[in-house]
Amino acid sequence: MKKVIIVGAGLSGATMARLFADDGYEVTIIDKRDTYGGNAYDYKDRNGIIVQPYGPHIFHTNEKVVFDFLSRFTEWDKYEHRVLANIKGKLVPVPFNLTSLEMLFAKDKAERIKEILIKEIGLDKKVPILKLKEHENKEIRDFAEFVYQNIFYFYTKKQWGFKPEELGEAVMNRVPVYVSYEDRYFTDEYQYMPQNGFTEMVSNILRHPKIQLKLGRDAGKVLSLKDGEIYLKGQLFEGELIYTGCVDELFNYCHGVLPYRSLKFKFKTKKCSSYQKAAVVNFTTSHRFTRISEFSKFTCPPQKKTVIVKEYSKKFKKDKNIPYYPIPTESNAIFYQKYVEEAKKYKHLHLLGRLANYKYINMDIAVKNAMELYEKIKDNLED
Ligand code: FAD
Ligand code: UDP
Repeated sequence: MKKVIIVGAGLSGATMARLFADDGYEVTIIDKRDTYGGNAYDYKDRNGIIVQPYGPHIFHTNEKVVFDFLSRFTEWDKYEHRVLANIKGKLVPVPFNLTSLEMLFAKDKAERIKEILIKEIGLDKKVPILKLKEHENKEIRDFAEFVYQNIFYFYTKKQWGFKPEELGEAVMNRVPVYVSYEDRYFTDEYQYMPQNGFTEMVSNILRHPKIQLKLGRDAGKVLSLKDGEIYLKGQLFEGELIYTGCVDELFNYCHGVLPYRSLKFKFKTKKCSSYQKAAVVNFTTSHRFTRISEFSKFTCPPQKKTVIVKEYSKKFKKDKNIPYYPIPTESNAIFYQKYVEEAKKYKHLHLLGRLANYKYINMDIAVKNAMELYEKIKDNLED
């Protein structure tokens, strides 16, 4: 049977490794970090709080097939995520909902806007902010402008260095306005956290006699590509290569460095059982950081201490910081296509994951994409 090499032991790579191994293939999975789980990596600190050093990760999905797959590897704790926005010192639910409206407008005005929203959009509907801003009704447009300025504009500029319009739907539709009292950040059918964290879940995915895990190994040092062929330590490699790292790095930046957003995290352990009113507070009109997350509020029972992290968005600088978010603008999509064309020259190379696909995807979609790509590769191998 053909050998398989997977670069990157994040959720995309780990899922792929397991699917191949379950079908009897020998898999080697490498990661340049000393940990597995990619950006979903977490650990328990000395107070028993699960901390996520690459930023807050909440699992949610509507994909039963993804939930069923991951449920083989973890027990779950029910967790419904709620977020508050700090608007000039006032804390209101985000996604912006009818409660947020009532908290920020005088009673009569709030009632009037609520009535129009229900009539024009419909009760229990969700509407993207950029669509609401273009509504034919002026009162709705005025309301949308208020929400845009207080929730989206400043936060998005801080996070991406772009205005909401420049990023378009892929980003802005993630957090719509709710014409309801729904106060959960996600409305997906399955909302759970892995009981002992994501690292343990990924460890269980990778625990298989046919999977060899090698950490602290940079693919660039052992793999090379030339004239449609893949080489491993200088020898022709005739198996399948699944690559989940940055695609520009794989091709030695031959078309230039793709733009990403990076992050800087400032962690603090506080001597109190609760630091803030919600697991995450977004700072939408002030401060240089975008949000504060409090890990003990995710699933942990109350402790004497708590851990918070402030997130600062930064420009990505190659070899200086970590590429966290691909930036989904139109021009970047065109730029990325140049690398897709390079990859097409290699029949046995498959790009997968947030970095190699240059897509702003959640963990469930990373798993789903791995499942779909696996089926495609398997069909080809069996032909
Ligand atoms: P990654 O997790 O990035 O894994 C890629 C792996 O490849 C890394 O371990 C890296 O070290 C390795 N690698 C790269 N290059 C090389 C190389 N040359 N050699 C060897 N190894 C290499 N999703 C959600 O569903 N819910 C959330 O709440 C959520 N919050 C997020 C918050 C932040 C701050 C960020 C950045 C992402 C968040 N996500 C969230 C998205 C989630 O992290 C990703 O969808 C998911 O982890 C993607 O997995 P991946 O395996 O594709 O990529
Ligand atoms: N967003 C915003 N204000 C908020 C929440 C989100 O402007 O209070 C915008 C912002 O551009 C952000 C995007 O919506 O990057 C997606 O938000 P999400 O919380 O999904 O971001 P992530 O957790 O992936 O960083």
